[in-house]
Amino acid sequence: MARRKKVYEGKAKILYEGPEPGTLVQYFKDDATAFNAEKKATIEGKGVLNNRLSEFFMTGLNNIGVPTHFIRRINMREQLIRAVEIIPLEVIVRNFAAGSMAKRLGLEEGTQLPRPIIEFSYKNDDLGDPLVPEEYIIAFGWASQQDLDDIVALALRVNDFMSGMMMGVGIRLVDFKIEIGRVWDGDFMRLIVADEISPDSCRLWDIETGQKLDKDVFRRDLGNLTDAYTEVARRLGVMPTNSGFGGKPTLVN
Ligand code: C5P
Repeated sequence: MARRKKVYEGKAKILYEGPEPGTLVQYFKDDATAFNAEKKATIEGKGVLNNRLSEFFMTGLNNIGVPTHFIRRINMREQLIRAVEIIPLEVIVRNFAAGSMAKRLGLEEGTQLPRPIIEFSYKNDDLGDPLVPEEYIIAFGWASQQDLDDIVALALRVNDFMSGMMMGVGIRLVDFKIEIGRVWDGDFMRLIVADEISPDSCRLWDIETGQKLDKDVFRRDLGNLTDAYTEVARRLGVMPTNSGFGGKPTLVN
């Protein structure tokens, strides 16, 4: 294959120049990191699963009119996406208390929140992605008040879609993180969902048993991460139903 220009390499993905202007190729690695990359591992098959799952969720969002960067999947590990200017925020939506919120407020994990709560972290690895109030976001010019209103509306639509999709397969969407990018059509700027939506960026609990089916399996050493992600994919019909994972991904294209 012809060498491609690498545009950016993150912890779990690589971005390459795309075939047409305004596009990029997003490659999903098998690398897993947690606690701001203090904990690292390579988990065979994770990239394949996340490529598929992110395709599935983003296609569903595109279909209901929630704009995303996803154009099409290219192969097992790569998808074609629209190039965006990433807003340096992690947009977190929480339906139940867990993780950093449970810790910060002394809440028991799994406590239902009175309504979905949205919070923002400043994307900066050196600082450990600190939680920031809207006031900072506007004052430092990362996004305007109008952008924030649009981001909240987008995040709530993603939450409704993802919660319903998960509920249908017996999974509770506890919380998730999305990233938002700007695209321009001439002078007109639009905000779209970017990055990925996968069990790396969501908390997913089995409704019956409470079993964790997301990256907390890795963060907290709760078992085999690919087994958990494969179960999510199997329930959603994203994987062929009879494909035993067997360590190696069995998907072709
Ligand atoms: O750790 P915390 O409870 O703040 O995470 C909230 C949600 O955001 C979780 O679903 C987690 O997987 C996701 N998240 C993420 N990337 C980060 C931080 C959090 O995907 N850097």
